[in-house]
Amino acid sequence: MSKTQHSPRNPKSINEVVSSGLCIGCGLCQAIAPEVYSMQITENGALRPFPLSDDISKDTEILSACPGALVIAENDGAALHDSIWGAYTSMTRTWAGDPDVRFKAATGGVLTALGMWLLSSGRADFVLHCGADPAKPMRSRYVLSRTPEQVLKNTASRYGPSDTLAGLEAALQLDKPFALIAKPCDANAIRARAKNDKRLDKNLVAVLVMVCGGASDLGKSEAVLDEYGLEEDELSLFRYRGHGNPGPTRIETKSGQHFEKTYQEMWADESGWRIQSRCKLCPDPNGEAADLAAADIWPNANPVGEDEGFNGVIGRTAKGQSLIDAAHLDGALVSDLTLSPRDFDHFQPHQVHKKKSMAARLRGLAAAGQVVYAHKGLRIDELDDSLPEEEKGAYDRAKQGKFSEPWPPIPRKSSLLCKQTS
Ligand SMILES: Cc1cc2nc3c(=O)[nH]c(=O)nc-3n(C[C@H](O)[C@H](O)[C@H](O)COP(=O)(O)OP(=O)(O)OC[C@H]3O[C@@H](n4cnc5c(N)ncnc54)[C@H](O)[C@@H]3O)c2cc1C
Ligand code: SF4
Ligand code: SF4
Repeated sequence: MSKTQHSPRNPKSINEVVSSGLCIGCGLCQAIAPEVYSMQITENGALRPFPLSDDISKDTEILSACPGALVIAENDGAALHDSIWGAYTSMTRTWAGDPDVRFKAATGGVLTALGMWLLSSGRADFVLHCGADPAKPMRSRYVLSRTPEQVLKNTASRYGPSDTLAGLEAALQLDKPFALIAKPCDANAIRARAKNDKRLDKNLVAVLVMVCGGASDLGKSEAVLDEYGLEEDELSLFRYRGHGNPGPTRIETKSGQHFEKTYQEMWADESGWRIQSRCKLCPDPNGEAADLAAADIWPNANPVGEDEGFNGVIGRTAKGQSLIDAAHLDGALVSDLTLSPRDFDHFQPHQVHKKKSMAARLRGLAAAGQVVYAHKGLRIDELDDSLPEEEKGAYDRAKQGKFSEPWPPIPRKSSLLCKQTS
């Protein structure tokens, strides 16, 4: 196991993961130990595991897959390799063959089209992913989509907290083949979990992820409601993007009002993004543990307007590549260009910077006495650009308590446990 130096210590409990700002709220601990951990919204608008008892006997098992404790990317069968982008089988410009999917989805609809096609081709019985909570549409909850129509209903990016893996045990209990569509950290977690849960070897047919710049806490969305003078319980729709590429953020109320912001308006002020601390430390934002990763391909990560929707798709594994090829043959996906790792550098300069900064950030945290995750297969030390300002920044922020969270987490006064639908 490779570890970034300065005597880093890895978390030994869920308490330590959360209190050190390493929890992304994936929901896996609730799936493994629902009698001990329950995912709820904190007073700061993050999803975190709330302890229901003092029992920590399942912590070791959870920590062996928790993305706040270790992050692993192991690749099977990829012939190509790039130090920034990792192992891959292909890089292409791709979109959904169905124009309706392409329009409604976040970018070109590749993840949704593949999820729908896995069901319609009989390769999977359902897809575990996330979508808007019908009762609280600004929030997300996991969903088991059993039909292509349900996959499409839950299309497009959700920029707030999401705990998709809270649905993992419900998925496994069905004992049917299924696909996961989720974030790269969820892919890290499910691959690590597969080592201890053989049901995943049997039934997990594909892991499909988006390239991910970071997940905001709920405060980012609440700030939008504040601008329009709205309360959360007035909402009937909160769509972050889609219906175009990138498409507007659209809010509708039960009383028939609607509001829209362009993507540029939504994300113009970086100081208001409220990205969670685990994301600032993310060693695998590009989905190296997945079978396939789908990205935006705007120059320098900036959309210049609306377009029809084009994904940059990175095939990661032999299995992922065979799914991509078969989906093309069936018309579910369409591609027109081969891309290269240097094209992806141009589309995602923030991810290149993040990969090269991560060793310095982890060093800064370790020097400040924080625990950090263990990592393997992500070239964090190899890519180390020895950036002193990154190391100092992480050290200073750690000393100021900016990577610290309370344990047990403090609930929102208005927090409701979201009812799951499947
Ligand atoms: C938090 C976040 C940050 C992102 N940052 C970047 C970035 O830096 N660079 C980049 O190129 N792209 C980024 N994206 C990805 C981009 O928005 C598109 O999701 C991606 O291009 C795939 O497009 P698509 O049309 O194939 O997805 P779609 O076909 O619309 O499918 C999206 C799928 O992802 C699932 N999903 C949506 N939101 C979440 C979530 N929060 N957690 C788990 N699953 C979710 C949905 O259930 C759906 O199945 C980000 C997405 C998110 C959610
Ligand atoms: S990252 Fe996931 S598994 Fe780890 S503590 Fe947070 S919710 Fe639990
Ligand atoms: S940036 Fe990394 S940790 Fe944050 S949500 Fe994305 S994949 Fe997960």
